[in-house]
Amino acid sequence: MIEIIRIPALSDNYIWLAHEPDSGETLVIDPAEAEPVLAAAAESGWNITQIWNTHWHPDHVGGNAAIKAATGCTITGPAAEQDRIGTLDKMVREGDTVALGALRAEVIDVPAHTSGHIAYHFAEAAVIFVGDTLFAMGCGRLFEGTPAQMYDNMQRLSALPGETEVYCAHEYTQSNGRYALVAEPANAAIVERMAEVDAMRARGEATVPTTIALERATNPFMRATSADELAERRAAKDSFKG
Ligand code: ZN
Ligand code: FE
Repeated sequence: MIEIIRIPALSDNYIWLAHEPDSGETLVIDPAEAEPVLAAAAESGWNITQIWNTHWHPDHVGGNAAIKAATGCTITGPAAEQDRIGTLDKMVREGDTVALGALRAEVIDVPAHTSGHIAYHFAEAAVIFVGDTLFAMGCGRLFEGTPAQMYDNMQRLSALPGETEVYCAHEYTQSNGRYALVAEPANAAIVERMAEVDAMRARGEATVPTTIALERATNPFMRATSADELAERRAAKDSFKG
């Protein structure tokens, strides 16, 4: 079993705290900053033993050093980005397995947002941490990769079991959904989801995690039928003023 806490940080980041009760291990995914993470861990009585990074961007690794200094935890991240992160103890890549107590997560390469971006998939717990690759109704910007790579990423993620909970690193859902409505105006599932999302945001609630099944039905990037279509949609979203 895995217990997960959402920690809002910076303007729209989510840092995830994951706890495995049998071992007492506690994991931080993509700490944008240290303070709210240390506060959340103290409040829940959890001792942080590990940090896992999905990619090198400062809003995902900014808290690494301070959390390690405070807790002595070990830091795991993408081997391909070790030079740009600088604080990694353990470098991982596609096919590697990382452990949180008795739980195992498989490392999946999902390059495109950054060239070495990885995701961590707990198959048994049906949980995946995707960083800035897959968002609710969206995908990451293609800073260091191609539409074909992101298309492959979306296909791989789409093939996971539908009930898999998807933990992404930003609250971008409302903006993504406004574009999704334009990309697929006849998709009733998007219309319905956006009504819920608008209501949740009006109440100040978070809209993530999401699930693979929900993304299959409403995410215009996961639903793109070719790399070209994903490229068109990504370009349209980049300049979308919704
Ligand atoms: Zn990023
Ligand atoms: Fe980010």
